[in-house]
Amino acid sequence: MTHLSDIEIASQVKMKPIEEVAKTLGIESDDISLYGKYKAKLNAHQLDKMKDKKDGKLILVTAITPTPAGEGKTTTSVGLADALTKIGKKAMLALREPSLGPVFGVKGGAAGGGYAQVVPMEDINLHFTGDFHAIGAANNLLAALLDNHIHHGNALGIDSRQITWKRVVDMNDRQLRYVVDGLRGKVNGVPREDGFDITVASEIMAILCLATDMIDLKEKLKKIIVGYTFAGEPVTAGDLKAEGSLAALLKDAIHPNLVQTLEHTPALIHGGPFANIAHGCNSALATKMALKYADYAVTEAGFGADLGAEKFIDIKCRLADLKPDAVVLVATIRALKMHGGVPKKELGPENVEAVLAGLPNLEKHLENIQNVYGMPAVVAINKFPTDTEAELQAVYQACQERGVDVVVSDVWGKGGAGGVELAEKVIELAEQPNQFSYVYDLEDSIEEKLTKIVQKVYGGTGVEITPAARKVMANLERLGFGTYPICMAKTQYSFSDDASLIGRPSDFTVTIRDLKISAGAGFIVALTGAVMTMPGLPKVPAAEKIDVDEFGVISGLF
Ligand code: ADP
Ligand code: MG
Repeated sequence: MTHLSDIEIASQVKMKPIEEVAKTLGIESDDISLYGKYKAKLNAHQLDKMKDKKDGKLILVTAITPTPAGEGKTTTSVGLADALTKIGKKAMLALREPSLGPVFGVKGGAAGGGYAQVVPMEDINLHFTGDFHAIGAANNLLAALLDNHIHHGNALGIDSRQITWKRVVDMNDRQLRYVVDGLRGKVNGVPREDGFDITVASEIMAILCLATDMIDLKEKLKKIIVGYTFAGEPVTAGDLKAEGSLAALLKDAIHPNLVQTLEHTPALIHGGPFANIAHGCNSALATKMALKYADYAVTEAGFGADLGAEKFIDIKCRLADLKPDAVVLVATIRALKMHGGVPKKELGPENVEAVLAGLPNLEKHLENIQNVYGMPAVVAINKFPTDTEAELQAVYQACQERGVDVVVSDVWGKGGAGGVELAEKVIELAEQPNQFSYVYDLEDSIEEKLTKIVQKVYGGTGVEITPAARKVMANLERLGFGTYPICMAKTQYSFSDDASLIGRPSDFTVTIRDLKISAGAGFIVALTGAVMTMPGLPKVPAAEKIDVDEFGVISGLF
């Protein structure tokens, strides 16, 4: 059976004017700024006006430890929101904006898939409303101000060997990872080693996603540490008097973007921080607004539940004062098979035994959600066309035997209609009382926080902190950052810091090699290995298949 591509499916659906979509949740035309007919910015000031309105239920969609292809969190989120709409509930999505890097690289777009997509998918995947370019511009303005300060006499005494602020571009461009700039004599700047990150790795992306309003955004921008003086003291964006102009560049980007699903459910798509060196969630503003306008706000956190859900709870919920009501744990047959020991190239053929052997991975994630984060959860088996009935049944039954809430979700194949059972379960779970809790307290020492994450969430025995990382840790504590939450930068392919340890590993330690402070965003990044903040393109990039015709119609996006 051949399937239509995502873009083919998307192009067959007639979108509604975005004003009409907005009206379904009582959003007035005056509260949105149109970006063409199908995209709009929803004014964040509305939040103030709705202060006293009761929030809807917050539903987090997360996943088991994924394969490199992704297990369908976005797809499931979109389908769940459509299913909720279908059964008469007011639902709204809050999702991340795609980055151009993966669109042209391996992974493709990030607007859902099959019959569970947000549209216009080609716009959402390509530039959208320009937020990422605005963030890039703000990031690079700060870099320009920094080098300009050094060029004009360096009154702050910035040590150009200790500059931590990089330039960014929203593209997978490995050529720019390490550069030397400021060459060619006195008039052309001060030579130094430099480098580029991808825009989604910019701290300004994380800041935009955690800011609660423009004033808070400026406060956070001001605290960004760009480097250190010769005396080892931090230099901030505030020292460079940069926060005002940076915020000016973000005056539109701060407002969430409103679009629709294929079934016309309203969706806020806003911000997209990396899920490793940042917290990997859409903006707090979008989530908060979705909770005000809808009875059910469905949102997603990057990677598996060990990283995404943990950061969602310990960073986003804590800093933005949010509290989820239910969690959907997405599982796929292919990922379970991989955890059952099947090599990635052989995940296609039926293998019930391997699927069952992979279940301990799912069980650990579920235990974390229920016992560590204290949330009710349902397992959504995201059905792929290649899954066999025997495989689906095996997982379904195994979950039932363990008393776990489980549904087979076919939103990719059927849209909202394929997610009705999931929606009904979610509604039921969201009514249950829960014991929502953080994994650690902010007052815990940095080492205690790291240890708690590794022991409680990953199932390891503890952390090993390298001598170099210990030095950084002591310095961060000295500078007063000891009470910041932790943002783990770890492989998404294992509970441990070793990607080859699939399934449910035990008896391992996690090595902390370095710590970095994101003083503006408000968290400490713990690096467990080399983290790529500027990806490269693969040998055959997706870009080779993307095209546009004489009428401006895009093809080849997936
Ligand atoms: P995540 O958000 O977890 O990274 P996505 O929802 O973006 O995952 O899905 C990853 C890829 O898998 C996308 O290309 C999507 O279209 C595809 N996909 C997701 N669910 C299914 C499914 N049930 N059947 C086929 N393809 C799917
Ligand atoms: Mg996703």
